[in-house]
Amino acid sequence: MEIKALEKVEQAGLFGTVAQMGHEQVVFCYDEATGLKSIIAIHNTVLGPALGGTRMWHYNDEHEALIDVLRLSRGMTFKASISGLNLGGGKAVIIGDAKTMKTEAFMRRFGKFVNSLGGKYITAEDVNMKTADMEYISMETKHVTGLPESLGGGGDPSPVTAYGTYLGMKASAKRVFGSDSLEGKKIVVQGVGQVGMYLVEHLVKEKAQVMIADINEEKVQVLAKKHGVKAVAQDAVYDLDVDIYAPCALGATLNDDTIPRLKCSIVSGAANNQLKDEIKHGYMLIDRGITYAPDFLINAGGLINVYNEYLGNYNRARVFEQAEKIYTTCLNIFALAEQEKINTQEAAIKLAEKRIEEVGRVRIPR
Ligand code: NAD
Repeated sequence: MEIKALEKVEQAGLFGTVAQMGHEQVVFCYDEATGLKSIIAIHNTVLGPALGGTRMWHYNDEHEALIDVLRLSRGMTFKASISGLNLGGGKAVIIGDAKTMKTEAFMRRFGKFVNSLGGKYITAEDVNMKTADMEYISMETKHVTGLPESLGGGGDPSPVTAYGTYLGMKASAKRVFGSDSLEGKKIVVQGVGQVGMYLVEHLVKEKAQVMIADINEEKVQVLAKKHGVKAVAQDAVYDLDVDIYAPCALGATLNDDTIPRLKCSIVSGAANNQLKDEIKHGYMLIDRGITYAPDFLINAGGLINVYNEYLGNYNRARVFEQAEKIYTTCLNIFALAEQEKINTQEAAIKLAEKRIEEVGRVRIPR
């Protein structure tokens, strides 16, 4: 999908691509002294300021970085909208090696660029960014979230993300099995990192038959022992006879190779961009009789967490309460998908776009 998108930039040109994806503003930031090269993409600010994390990655070239930031920022618009937040969608990427290039000056320079946007873009943590980096950014701008609790931040968002994912899984069970109880259901969790491990706790509490897999064998063994769950080989995940497959590691695991192998009735997990191709693979799942809980809805707990941090007077209990809406929204999406004969990812995007359109109309000064 990324290769196709790269070709698209070459064909459509920069402004053509930005127009096709519907972005409002794309900012290229360069600082010679620190070597900082970053792109900030603001997709849509109809509902509020564009909030989205900063990802640092060793991209092969600038086009790849551009496509990533355009795609990710668009996804944030839908995630915020479907979650009922007054936020728009944005994202930033920094090009380079996170292990060697990040210094105090480097992060503060990035913070200054964020500040120059006057609050239209609010940053947060993403791949290869740590709380300490957010602290440096916060020295140059107040438009930053993901700060530690000691600095008034919301702390680790993963427990909230896991809770939302768990509720999305329950809503999927309700839809498919007629009851949202997960007791006795065979569930494989792929990736037991920050989110996966909290998800496993919820599932164990509900007496599901949990299986876990991770490329990190040590993590698997520790968690398997702690909860008495079964460890499975990471390459066996797609072939297991389970009720639910929960991708909680990396994206694009729903593709031409894996979908024909799946034996589950439900895919419901926290990983971002699970469908390699939103349209094609969304329909392939339908053809296999598999119900897919849209990732950007059910993993929105992390965004709900930073949104509350941004609002101020952070209250963890309120954050969990807001995440509970994921259950009902998920059921609404399943109903819309059935009614309109579209896949669930498309239905989720449709609902997200509808809210932007309707609330956008209300916000026009009269
Ligand atoms: P993490 O890095 O803590 O955990 C990911 C785990 O997946 C690691 O244990 C890693 O070893 C494992 N892994 C990597 N490749 C694998 C493979 N091929 N097979 C099996 N396991 C593999 O990340 P996380 O914070 O738990 O996030 C998990 C997913 O959820 C990511 O896709 C992330 O983008 C998404 N997500 C996370 C949050 C959050 O609040 N942390 C919010 C929204 C979305």
